[in-house]
Amino acid sequence: MPRPAPAGLPLTLFNSLTRTTETFRPIDPDLVRVYSCGPTVYARQHLGNMRAYIFADTLTRTLRWAGYPVKHVINITDVGHLTSDADTGDDKMERAAAAEQLTAWDIADRYTRLFKQDLARLNVAEPALWSVATAHIPDMIAFGERIAGSTYETPSGLYFDTRSVPDYGRLAGHRPDEGREVSRIDDVEGKRHPSDFAIWRKSEQPGLRQMEWESPWGVGAPGWHLECSVMSMKHLGERFDIHTGGIDHREIHHPNEIAQNQAYTGSDHTGATIWMHNNFLVERGAKMSKSSGGFATLDTLADAGVHPLAYRLLCLSAHYRSELEFSADNVMAALTRLKRLVRTVNKYALHVSSIFDTLAEADDAAQLNLVRDKLEQDLSTAAEGYIAEFAMAMSDDLNTPMALTVVDRLLVDPKLSVVEKARLLGSVDLVLGLDIKSLKPLAPTSLRVRPAAAILTEADINARLAERREARAAKDFARSDAIRDALIAEGVEVMDGDPLGWEWRVAL
Ligand code: AMP
Ligand code: ZN
Repeated sequence: MPRPAPAGLPLTLFNSLTRTTETFRPIDPDLVRVYSCGPTVYARQHLGNMRAYIFADTLTRTLRWAGYPVKHVINITDVGHLTSDADTGDDKMERAAAAEQLTAWDIADRYTRLFKQDLARLNVAEPALWSVATAHIPDMIAFGERIAGSTYETPSGLYFDTRSVPDYGRLAGHRPDEGREVSRIDDVEGKRHPSDFAIWRKSEQPGLRQMEWESPWGVGAPGWHLECSVMSMKHLGERFDIHTGGIDHREIHHPNEIAQNQAYTGSDHTGATIWMHNNFLVERGAKMSKSSGGFATLDTLADAGVHPLAYRLLCLSAHYRSELEFSADNVMAALTRLKRLVRTVNKYALHVSSIFDTLAEADDAAQLNLVRDKLEQDLSTAAEGYIAEFAMAMSDDLNTPMALTVVDRLLVDPKLSVVEKARLLGSVDLVLGLDIKSLKPLAPTSLRVRPAAAILTEADINARLAERREARAAKDFARSDAIRDALIAEGVEVMDGDPLGWEWRVAL
């Protein structure tokens, strides 16, 4: 059973459906069920996409920390997603396969693998289930048959009639007949209304597509929106607690899922009780993405010498419903904050290694509550106050920026013992996921990932810095400046008087 909410503070979450912050009331407190829209695996997921999974991970960690067991499902879209969300254009998978001269199946395999590696680098917990679209084709066909009353056939496939369900488009905040058009009606012959969407798309010429299946509506492939309704209900039940995704999904994908769910259950219930959306990572300067030719990936950061967990910390430093600006300054600020944390952890680790051993047991989500209990046993009143404040911040629709300031304050509070600080850090990290237990053995300099493009080795840099120190000691400032300028020319910025004791950083 969940632990009692601190000081009468229940968990509240913003529901995009009602556009209000609501008290979270699980359908079954013994198993909270959460579904997150996952990647379309036709390309590497970029840092913006990763924000969506860090958000979902923060949500499920918070639920577990609050005492709820959680079943989390993330889907892998390996078929059906067209180049436009409005159901027109090419299939993203088939297009990538042609461009990379691989089969669509190999493309799916490659990018699913890279995606999971990126999640691990960000310390995002594995869901209970990775639900793969192509493994659910018979379920999708059965679903399509059951919603026959809401569909009609066109020469190109089976379409969903969005006027057949109540309140279509409520999630997006506009009804199809009064809102913007999601696609032009004349894009598809026989389509009755602009917001209607494909449940099944017939292959124009069977045998040409790599991914196609027999169905009652001809050989073809499922429409993209269908998979999430089918897989969420199959694995989580017709009613489950929370559905997450990026804010773009609030406009088309999720309203269409809701419509399908309503047709399937013959009710006006939306399937999930709460629909949550993370806002976008945005790039104004567009400098950092140039090297990758699109939005930056975790590799772009690593190539610039930035640890992946600095990106996680950057995401936590903004509220999930706010836009987050991706800039060199923001990334470097997050890296500095992470380094400060690592230094603190290193300081405490010497005293309290057993605390970190306790944390190592928290890998099994079911154990998390026990670990939390252990870490928070017999805390002083002051320490308990910090836990209550942290809980209050997280209970307030996952206010991570506020929660981080609580962490900043507790670390410098002279009223807390070193052991207590380490315990508090251990407990809050069950939510923040900065992997403090692994950061522990890191020397702070380990966070200084060597950039891929660097010409100089770390030893070179250190040797030149030593030379520069000698020059400065001898008051040979011309020489010291010359060494600094030479380093800058090779992408290394020297930081005199860096309070953290890092003497250089990679210039982004
Ligand atoms: P996709 O692979 O395009 O289906 O996207 C995977 C997830 O990333 C979805 O939940 C999207 O809504 C989300 N997403 C896409 N771009 C961004 C962005 N710039 N910032 C945050 N989330 C995003
Ligand atoms: Zn989805």
